[in-house]
Amino acid sequence: MEIVKDIVERAGGGVAATPAPGGANMIDPFGRAITYLRISVTDRCDFRCVYCMAEDMTFLPKRDLLTLEELDRLSTAFIDKGVRKLRLTGGEPLVRRNIMHLIRSLSRHLETGALEELTITTNGSQLERFASELADCGVKRINVSLDTLDPDKFKAITRWGDFAKVMAGIKAAQAAGIRVKLNAVALKGFNDDEIPAMLEWAHGEGMDLTLIETMPLGEIDGDRTDQYLPLSAVRARLSERFTLTDIPYKTGGPARYVEVAETGGRLGFITPLTHNFCESCNRVRLTCTGTLYMCLGQEDAADLRGPLRASEGNELLSNAIDEAIGRKPKGHDFIIDRETRRPAVSRHMSVTGG
Ligand code: SAM
Ligand code: SF4
Repeated sequence: MEIVKDIVERAGGGVAATPAPGGANMIDPFGRAITYLRISVTDRCDFRCVYCMAEDMTFLPKRDLLTLEELDRLSTAFIDKGVRKLRLTGGEPLVRRNIMHLIRSLSRHLETGALEELTITTNGSQLERFASELADCGVKRINVSLDTLDPDKFKAITRWGDFAKVMAGIKAAQAAGIRVKLNAVALKGFNDDEIPAMLEWAHGEGMDLTLIETMPLGEIDGDRTDQYLPLSAVRARLSERFTLTDIPYKTGGPARYVEVAETGGRLGFITPLTHNFCESCNRVRLTCTGTLYMCLGQEDAADLRGPLRASEGNELLSNAIDEAIGRKPKGHDFIIDRETRRPAVSRHMSVTGG
């Protein structure tokens, strides 16, 4: 509790963030309002998913990380500037030491109404332990990444993961009243045949399922061309068996949803490669060292740690954020093909957060 008090005090004595007048006030050069911040609170993880990380990863030295207090101050500055949705991700957010203290502290912005949603993307390994506390902090829905329902395949894809633990985590989250959405990366030759079964299972358990195309981020041990499965092909195959109807449902993210008549559930497609989703981008991403990436698929970034640490007031920080938003690019240039074998950007997904 001491840390929570400390964070709250440093962040302004528990005083709520002032809601941005009239909604968003960070507008990028293409007229897009930036209302969504994703924070990678750690680059570390207790899994080593083959499409995300090499097995032998070098992580940032702990001394380079922003403290939880600094992450809180930065988040609050963004909320003051119009962010309405905050997602903690990673690496695995729930392996960051004392992460619940940060989540507890940030939940004050939900209470004041300054923030509409506080959520996480997790691999589920630690969920059993944290589910009820997350619910208590006002976390209403979370994303859990799960690429297969087969424990052996799960072990193969995550290298270090324990399927039973993730299942227990999902159950614990649901028991705590948190809505769970499953995210699965579609991988050629790995889970393409399983997608119908995953869909039926997820919907049967009251969960939406979103499929993601693998993105060329960071060097991994394998070849991404071998893994890449265009979701246009997956959708076409699913349509032979299920009735898919486009629906306007939105969660603030890039997924496009269909309703599946046979299951009554929702299926989302995140298609950075087959369908460019940049035109409606409303988000920016912050790393655990205070680097702000204005686009997941571009190298350009802004350092916020310097201005954050340079003064106790937020003026320098606020100016640095404005300057960064002012150069948010129009979109990414992801390509996965046999000629383009290098990743589009050198950092891994675990650095910027998925
Ligand atoms: N560890 C947490 C998890 O797995 O949910 C949060 C971080 S993880 C980087 C966030 C999401 O990114 C996961 O759903 C993961 O499957 C996805 N992901 C990781 N690397 C990816 C890649 N190269 N292309 C597409 N999705 C990727
Ligand atoms: Fe860890 Fe998530 Fe990357 Fe898997 S996808 S290695 S769980 S950060």
